[in-house]
Amino acid sequence: MLGAALARLSEDCETAWRTLVDHTRHDFVEVCCSPESRLSSECDRLGGRSYRLNLANGFDLMRKESVIAAEAWLRKHRPREAWFSLPCTLWSILQNLNIHHNPELFYAKRKKARTMIRNCIHLVKVCIEIGCDPAWEHPLRATSWQLPEVLKLIELLPHKCRVDGCQYNMRTIDTNELVLKSWRIQCRTAEQATRIAATCQNNHTHAPVIGGDRVTATSYYPLPMVKRWMKGVMRPRNMETLCTRLCAIDQEAESETETDLVGGVTEVRKHQLKKKKEQQALKEKLKTSEPDADPEKLRDKAEEDRVQTMLL
Ligand SMILES: [Zn+2]
Repeated sequence: MLGAALARLSEDCETAWRTLVDHTRHDFVEVCCSPESRLSSECDRLGGRSYRLNLANGFDLMRKESVIAAEAWLRKHRPREAWFSLPCTLWSILQNLNIHHNPELFYAKRKKARTMIRNCIHLVKVCIEIGCDPAWEHPLRATSWQLPEVLKLIELLPHKCRVDGCQYNMRTIDTNELVLKSWRIQCRTAEQATRIAATCQNNHTHAPVIGGDRVTATSYYPLPMVKRWMKGVMRPRNMETLCTRLCAIDQEAESETETDLVGGVTEVRKHQLKKKKEQQALKEKLKTSEPDADPEKLRDKAEEDRVQTMLL
């Protein structure tokens, strides 16, 4: 019973937190993904806010202008989590074997791919700076993992996770057989790294991923894997996070008050400060979990405050 009450309280805190503090934030951003990528679609389906920093939305991350625009987007929308999935074809072992066919062309393409990796590493750093937790996905055996810049990236995303597609029922499109497609994901937090980690125990057979249709079909993550990851992204945050965020808002309000006293406080400003004081009171209730902190009332109050803020 106590567990259920705590779960309910946590859910209400999440609602209050999202409404009061994070209503301007995006939940999730996906970098270099396909226009119909499943992670972002699942985020939207769950009622979250996602965005794709990809070619379809005008971000060619090989170009400097696009990187600047992507950085500006991140700083403005401050997503809570990010997922980087850069093209991997040029970094496969199979491609290495084909170098001798046209080495010049191969190395020219790989140089461009490396530029994109470096640009995206810059965006990972921006994410961390704005309080967003990024995850970086590439095939488990991609040679890109050995690049010096990627080894440096791993220091920023220290939690490693292996995911085998067969553990999420990934099958061939034509014969419906399990396939072993493995990804490595470097995560910012330990929690992220445990979300979808699953290694095949080799207690079944795998069909080879060869042939155009099969390769295309396996370019999308399996849905159960997508759902599990996004459930983690959209999970309720804990009380500690909530209080930290609200304290930051309080400090912001205090510094703004000092500024206003210099130039005179307007009526609108007074109203805003009154609302922030009410938010402070709400925070205290959440922090102390007082018996009179009725979750229903708190939620209604939070929604009322959100509407008021929007009207200002
Ligand atoms: Zn397997």
